[in-house]
Amino acid sequence: MERTRVAIVGGGPAGLLLSRLLHRDGVEHVVLEARSRDEIEHTTRAGILEAGAVDALVAAGLDRVLEDGDEHEGIVLRFDGEDHRIDFVGLAGRSVWLYPQTAVFIDLANQAAADGTDVRWQATVTDVLDRDSGHPGVRWTDVDGHEHELRADVLVGADGSRSVLRHTLPESERHTYAHEYPYAWFGIIVEARRSAPELVYTASDHGFALISQRTDTHQRMYFQCDPDEDPDPWEDARIWEQLQARVAGPDGFRLVEGPIEERSVLRFRSVVVEPVRHGRSLLVGDAAHTVPPTGAKGLNLALADVVVLHDVLTTWFAKGDDDVLDEFGRRVSERVWRAQHFSAWMTRMLHSAAGETPFEARRRVAELRTLCASEAGRRYLAEGYTGWGSIV
Ligand SMILES: Cc1cc2nc3c(=O)[nH]c(=O)nc-3n(C[C@H](O)[C@H](O)[C@H](O)COP(=O)(O)OP(=O)(O)OC[C@H]3O[C@@H](n4cnc5c(N)ncnc54)[C@H](O)[C@@H]3O)c2cc1C
Repeated sequence: MERTRVAIVGGGPAGLLLSRLLHRDGVEHVVLEARSRDEIEHTTRAGILEAGAVDALVAAGLDRVLEDGDEHEGIVLRFDGEDHRIDFVGLAGRSVWLYPQTAVFIDLANQAAADGTDVRWQATVTDVLDRDSGHPGVRWTDVDGHEHELRADVLVGADGSRSVLRHTLPESERHTYAHEYPYAWFGIIVEARRSAPELVYTASDHGFALISQRTDTHQRMYFQCDPDEDPDPWEDARIWEQLQARVAGPDGFRLVEGPIEERSVLRFRSVVVEPVRHGRSLLVGDAAHTVPPTGAKGLNLALADVVVLHDVLTTWFAKGDDDVLDEFGRRVSERVWRAQHFSAWMTRMLHSAAGETPFEARRRVAELRTLCASEAGRRYLAEGYTGWGSIV
């Protein structure tokens, strides 16, 4: 059995950012991550960072995003075949950054290696021990199948939506607010130049599409599909037919096509688990909440949670009073629920549910038109998308 001060379960963006902040404070900790570093580096996920998330990374000493990220000053809403730009800087005084989650992870993992942090890859936590005591712990298994025990002053569950820390809690001790959506995204990575300089969110009679970017040579695109869709049998030509039909309009806009290198189906859920503190264990990021990807909030919420948790832990280390840990849930709750609302609102406004009536389809277009015609409406979207100001 080993001991440390903070045991962080999960070495994704949330776990590794917390590790970096604790390292700078000289707080002893261990990160246990089930996957290999290589596997995480090659898993395509989020791509948009709010300005506050960029500030948090830069403040933690991770500033590659400023050089290699792309600052986006707005997005385009496209409906009835026409573009309507939402000018974030003009409306909310802030921008967002296109910087893939894989790059965020690589920066954090490189930093952890440079710091000499104790990150254990391929270390899978299987059980939580004495969560309510003053010396909680976890049981974990290494890559060779050997079992170990790690005890800590506090456990942090940064272990994503299938969180062991969350799911080993009895149902009676947690409340789960959840919503399922009747659609999913068919996502691709394509080798091609950009089709548009900024993200294009498209609502059409054929369904939703999002045209996003990655690099000068590779782009990310999605279109709405059935949650049970199997992406493998889809030929490239059929995928392009779907995407081109959704963005088509009188302005003749066409996507730049190229070889499709990756494809996957991403199911949607909205979930919030409360409370986020149980004894000496706390949940952050996707372990505590998930959002549909439409508002680009998942990664941003995870990083925002960590900034607040770090602040709370600093006070807790100084005071030693366990009630201080409750501050964490109180301080993150408002942002979490705002992001839940924003993501659900964007999702419903832009997607057509199966069996949608013609009335509902026209009502959604009217909602989009009203939003875009009103400066207050555009500002509401701009403020939400850019993240409502600073994190703390
Ligand atoms: C396919 C996909 C696409 C997405 N696209 C977008 C997007 O476009 N925009 C957006 O904003 N968000 C998107 N998200 C959400 C975003 O990626 C997450 O919100 C973000 O990763 C949350 O970070 P996290 O550190 O909390 O969790 P994660 O990144 O999930 O990290 C959790 C880590 O814990 C590890 N772990 C899990 N169980 C254990 C265990 N038992 N023991 C040890 N380690 C464990 C996992 O291996 C993982 O590395 C997407 C998510 C998915 C799944």
